[in-house]
Amino acid sequence: MFVVGLTGGIGSGKSTVANLFAAHGVPLVDTDLIAHRITAPHGLAMASIAAEFGAAFVAADGSLNRARMRELVFSDDSARRRLEAITHPLIRAETEREQREAQGPYVIVVVPLLVESGTWKNRVNRVLAVDCSVETQISRVMSRNGFSRAQVLAIIARQATREARLAAADDVIDNDNAPLDALEAQVDAQHRAYLSLARLAGA
Ligand code: ADP
Repeated sequence: MFVVGLTGGIGSGKSTVANLFAAHGVPLVDTDLIAHRITAPHGLAMASIAAEFGAAFVAADGSLNRARMRELVFSDDSARRRLEAITHPLIRAETEREQREAQGPYVIVVVPLLVESGTWKNRVNRVLAVDCSVETQISRVMSRNGFSRAQVLAIIARQATREARLAAADDVIDNDNAPLDALEAQVDAQHRAYLSLARLAGA
């Protein structure tokens, strides 16, 4: 299966763009959803998380105690790495399983941190970045999540820069002040290009 990795900073419009591809019948694999599922009540990662971090990190319903874990990994890099050593291989395996099961001309995997987490780029055929200015990200996330400007900036500071993302991308969707019809037109053109590439790759 031909795999397109869709990425972009917070608020860039990844979900919006992914849904426009889905409207063309392209199957989506969402790594955020998978990450959430494996840490849901009795999810695939939970036994290992309990063994590594202790029962205090497991909520009463068997899911990850997200607030507590967020607090720990925010200030402790080695804890973050231990958590990722559990979750990343599971996310990878589940992503590959969903890709294999997907029905369509090609599949889009939505990976917010594709550029940041080294191995992803080798696991997709094309990297598609959704691009907008930092100011646009800030205003969208402030209104979507009710965050302060400082909160959004702190999240952006932990992500790859706009330049690094553009440098890693094979293809770019410009979603800075793009009206919906302009965004749709870009997705249409990109979709047609991916249909051709997927056909060539399968030939
Ligand atoms: P991401 O998944 O990258 O965090 P979203 O697709 O959720 O980003 O978009 C962030 C917010 O900005 C959402 O509320 C979305 O509706 C809005 N948005 C995205 N693209 C546009 C656009 N071109 N014009 C206006 N609002 C947009």
